[in-house]
Amino acid sequence: MDLEPEIIALFSQGLDSILAIKIIQQQGLKIRALKFITPFFGSEIKDREAEYCREIKESYDIDLEIIDLTNDYLKMLAAPEYGYGKNFNPCLDCKIMMLTRARIRAEELNVKAIITGEVVGQRPFSQRRDTMRRIEKLSQTEGLLLRPLSAKLLTPTRAEETGLIDRDKLFDLSGRGRKPQMALAEKFGIKNYPTPAGGCLLTDPGFGKRVKTLYENEQIPTAVDLELLKFGRFYPLENRNEFIIVGRHRLDNQALLSIATGNYYILQLAEMAGPVAVLKGPETELSAAAKKLCQHSKAKTLHEAKIKWRKGSKNGTFTAINQDTSPQSEPKTENHDN
Ligand code: SF4
Repeated sequence: MDLEPEIIALFSQGLDSILAIKIIQQQGLKIRALKFITPFFGSEIKDREAEYCREIKESYDIDLEIIDLTNDYLKMLAAPEYGYGKNFNPCLDCKIMMLTRARIRAEELNVKAIITGEVVGQRPFSQRRDTMRRIEKLSQTEGLLLRPLSAKLLTPTRAEETGLIDRDKLFDLSGRGRKPQMALAEKFGIKNYPTPAGGCLLTDPGFGKRVKTLYENEQIPTAVDLELLKFGRFYPLENRNEFIIVGRHRLDNQALLSIATGNYYILQLAEMAGPVAVLKGPETELSAAAKKLCQHSKAKTLHEAKIKWRKGSKNGTFTAINQDTSPQSEPKTENHDN
C-alpha cells in the first residue's frame, strides 16, 4: 500500500467510485481508497480483507484500506439523528459517519482532499445538491470533499483552488443516465464492475424489517445476530432481541451452522434429516424452536419428534411435541458438558 497518499477516496467498488479514482490518478496523484464495512454492506469481504485488497489492486490498480464501522454503526442505527429512509436505511447518518471517518483519516495522513464517485442528481435524495451540501457541513468536509464526476457543477474545493487538482480535467456529469460513465469506463479500460445500485441490505424491505424488529426493545443486536438474520425463516420472540431462525435449504443450513457458534442454541432432528434451527434466547424457548423446526421438516406430520441441540460445549436431546392441538411440553433436556 502507498505509504504517503495525497488524496483519500471513498470506495464502494461501484463503477462511479472507480472512475472518480481513475480521473484523479490520471493527474499523477497518489490515492488511498477507503472501503467501509458493516453487517449491511461490504460484509462479504470480512475475514478476507487482505485477499480483497490484492484483488482490487490487481483489477484496478487501487490501494485500499478497509475500515470496519460495525460497532459505531450498530449504535447509530438504534436512533439515527436524521431518521430512516423508506426502509430501515439511515442514509444521512450513514453518509455523515463515513465522511467523518474519512475526514479523520485525511487529517491523520495530512491529505488535502477526499473524493467520492457521487454524481449530482443521480439519486433522488442523497445526491441532490442541497443534501450534498448539508452532508458536507455535518461531516465537516466543506472545501475538502471533491466529486470528480460532477466537480464542474459544484463550488471549487481547496484542492482545486490551490492547484493540487486541475479542475479543467474534471467532469460535469449529472442525472441518472449512465452513458457518460460507460464511455469513461471504456476509456480507462475498466471491464468488470458491479451494477451501480449494488449493495446495501438496509434498503431491502424484508431484511430491513427483520433488523428493525431486533431493535424494538432498545437493545443493540450483535454483528453475529445480523449475519444470522440474512438466512432462513425468522421468528422473533416476545423479547424482540431474541429469535428463532429455521433454514430453508442446504445453503441456509450450512450458513447457520457456521455462523451460530457460542451463544446460540442449534437444533436438529435427531432421527431423520432436516433443517437447522437456531435459537437466540433462554433454554425455556427450546420447545418453541423445536416446534418451528418440526413444522418445516418431514416431522411436521408426526405427533412428536426427537430433537438434538447444542450450545457451545453443551448439548442434549429431548422429545418435542409439534402438534398445535397438543399441550406444549417443556423440553426434558439431558445436558452433557463436553
Ligand atoms: S443505502 Fe445503505 S450504505 Fe447507502 S447511504 Fe443508505 S444506509 Fe448507507
